[in-house]
Amino acid sequence: MRFDVMTLFPEMIESACSFSILKRAAENGIVNVNTINPRDFTLDKHKKVDDTPYGGGAGMVLMAQPYVDAYESIERCENSITVMLSPQGRPLDDKLVNELAGYEQIVMMCGHYEGFDERIREIIKPLEISIGDFVLTGGELPALCVIDAVSRKIEGTLGKIESADEDSFSNGLIEYPHYTKPREYRGLKVPEVLLNGNHKEIAKFRLEQSIERTRQKRPDLYEKYINS
Ligand code: SAM
Repeated sequence: MRFDVMTLFPEMIESACSFSILKRAAENGIVNVNTINPRDFTLDKHKKVDDTPYGGGAGMVLMAQPYVDAYESIERCENSITVMLSPQGRPLDDKLVNELAGYEQIVMMCGHYEGFDERIREIIKPLEISIGDFVLTGGELPALCVIDAVSRKIEGTLGKIESADEDSFSNGLIEYPHYTKPREYRGLKVPEVLLNGNHKEIAKFRLEQSIERTRQKRPDLYEKYINS
């Protein structure tokens, strides 16, 4: 999986990908994160990437030329998708993450300030993705959410001891509770069933916990689960 991230702040992407599981995945050649700075594609000596909005109003708008030229400089393979991070996009969820994990290359466009000149969207026709109904200062954190969530789905990213199979949302439910040593902490004991080594009973307990948690915390998912 190759991620090509168009951003005015490449260090944000590079530094966040240089820790822990993402770092290991990059070192093992499982994911490859590449950044492209539209500022390198400006045609004027001040390297201007934004300007005031036609029609007036607050903020600066990202100009079409540096973004379209930067985009067109990226070599795209056949199985590639282009994503624009935008609060107006399709909400990112586990289903969309699985869809994205089916591509070999994800090109991502991070906005900033007031966002993109509309013609960037019209020319490139990206899939717009939102990470929630709130507005951030830029698309870098949302792009990192995509990189992180998609990378976990790529075989080899998670080691033997980590697994995405039973994570929340993978079966339409949120995950059961976890416990580790010690057996008792401040009077709170690990449920007995987890200590007896009976895998069938443990699986039953975990499924029941998952269902009950989903009913309590995410009634929307619970409704879908019981009706599926
Ligand atoms: N004026 C835009 C609007 O109201 O729709 C918001 C622009 S926002 C301040 C700047 C950039 O941050 C956006 O172009 C986008 O790339 C990114 N961004 C902000 N919130 C986001 C979200 N919830 N999901 C994805 N990207 C977001």
